[in-house]
Amino acid sequence: MSRATLIDLLYLFSATTFLLALKGLGSPKRARVGNFTAAFGMLVAVVATFFKQTDGHNLRHIPLMILGMAIGFIIAVPAARFVKMTAMPQLVAIFNGVGGGAAALVSLTEFIHIKSTHPATYVTLEVLLGVLIGTFSFSGSAIAYIKLQELITGRPITYPGQQIINALFGVASLVLIITILVNGSEGLLWILLVLAFILGAAFVLPIGGADVPVLISLLNSFTGLAVAASGFTLGSNLLIVAGTLVGASGIFLTRLMSKAMGRSLSNVLFSAFGSVVTASGGEGGADARPVRSGTPEDIGVLLGIASSVVIIPGYGLAVAQGQHVLRELGELLEAKGIEVSYAIHPVAGRMPGHMNVLLAEANVPYEQLKEMDEANSELTTADVALVVGANDTVNPAASDDKTSPIYGMPIIHADLAENVVFLKRSMRPGFAGIENELLYNPKTTLVFGDAKDTLTKMVAAVKAN
Ligand code: NDP
Repeated sequence: MSRATLIDLLYLFSATTFLLALKGLGSPKRARVGNFTAAFGMLVAVVATFFKQTDGHNLRHIPLMILGMAIGFIIAVPAARFVKMTAMPQLVAIFNGVGGGAAALVSLTEFIHIKSTHPATYVTLEVLLGVLIGTFSFSGSAIAYIKLQELITGRPITYPGQQIINALFGVASLVLIITILVNGSEGLLWILLVLAFILGAAFVLPIGGADVPVLISLLNSFTGLAVAASGFTLGSNLLIVAGTLVGASGIFLTRLMSKAMGRSLSNVLFSAFGSVVTASGGEGGADARPVRSGTPEDIGVLLGIASSVVIIPGYGLAVAQGQHVLRELGELLEAKGIEVSYAIHPVAGRMPGHMNVLLAEANVPYEQLKEMDEANSELTTADVALVVGANDTVNPAASDDKTSPIYGMPIIHADLAENVVFLKRSMRPGFAGIENELLYNPKTTLVFGDAKDTLTKMVAAVKAN
């Protein structure tokens, strides 16, 4: 077997591992194995590439490549290992941005490389699309990172005529691409690069900080397409397969997230959601409506006499880092013969799978995690719905109030349970910035305080009962 055939077979093996990995990532139980499978496939592909020959020549600049990889390794491994769970979206934004940037650089060098050979129009088009999409993804991801890291305001940044100006940038980029295809000008390529950079940043500025994870998923899909374009340019089937998988799964994820929020993708991208906060916020005040509040000890007693408890985690649990104490509470209740399950809303938290990852980190058994529909049917017979740092994902306005910005978003119906307990610090709203009527429901008890502290006190109270 020739070296080229062997390398192609190894690439085929890698592409297969990517598919198997995607299948594994579809369930919390197999996600870890899925991740390792893809990482192994990628390692095989990278090693195989070092032995690739082009026109009978071995790869050149190998020490330089190894140096680049070593630098990447030194930066990325600690960044990924020590990142806080709540900062994960930022990390994904950076990783995605550099991926797009790398794809753009490949296309850029390839343009300069092939220019004198008068390539076919479709080849130049692939290269130009690689530059446009990769650069767009790079600068868009950079702004997404800056917003999520709160280096600038997380609120939408808008100005009059913004969408028209952005559309003009988009049209100008397309006109440039057509012109370059006609005259092959390298000078115009640099202008295209600058325009794509501005367009990526301008596209992201009006998107509210908390919608940014949906946007990152979309940018991730764009990066995949840019990588696939590089694959065509370099004649690499593996890059085409990997890029297309990322492009397709990114689009699916974006659609799923928008759907789980009950909003269209165009609403997420263009409505500047989150620029207006409609709830009163604060804790009490002259015109505050009465709510029933309780102590962790009260809730300890309530849980002690329950026969089934559905725990509904949300963003606040991640902020409080209370997942380990929550698992301890769950185990304690189970030991007392109480049925315990965890209701997982697909967009609880601030990134896809946030609650799954958080609870998996605390070793909560997978069998206890219930998807929304199953959880809702369990809630009809539950004694207690324990809402830990969730808000929008249990807000009945999503199904009752047609005027609400979250109307249409599927929710976990905590209100179906006999008793509802909210662990939160104040009357402040969640991400959507809107009032939650469930807080004022007569069957609701609020326990104010940091979720981890409250849960710790509840564990002590349950133990004491
Ligand atoms: P929310 O953002 O609606 O609410 C979080 C709640 O946690 C708040 O009420 C807050 O109240 C409370 N909280 C914050 N910190 C703490 C703490 N330390 N201790 C106790 N409570 C705390 O969260 P949900 O998870 O219910 O909903 C997620 C929202 O994010 C949805 O609107 C979703 O559409 C959106 N979103 C989700 C994405 C995803 O991929 N998961 C992506 C983009 C957006 P208080 O301040 O009073 O403590």
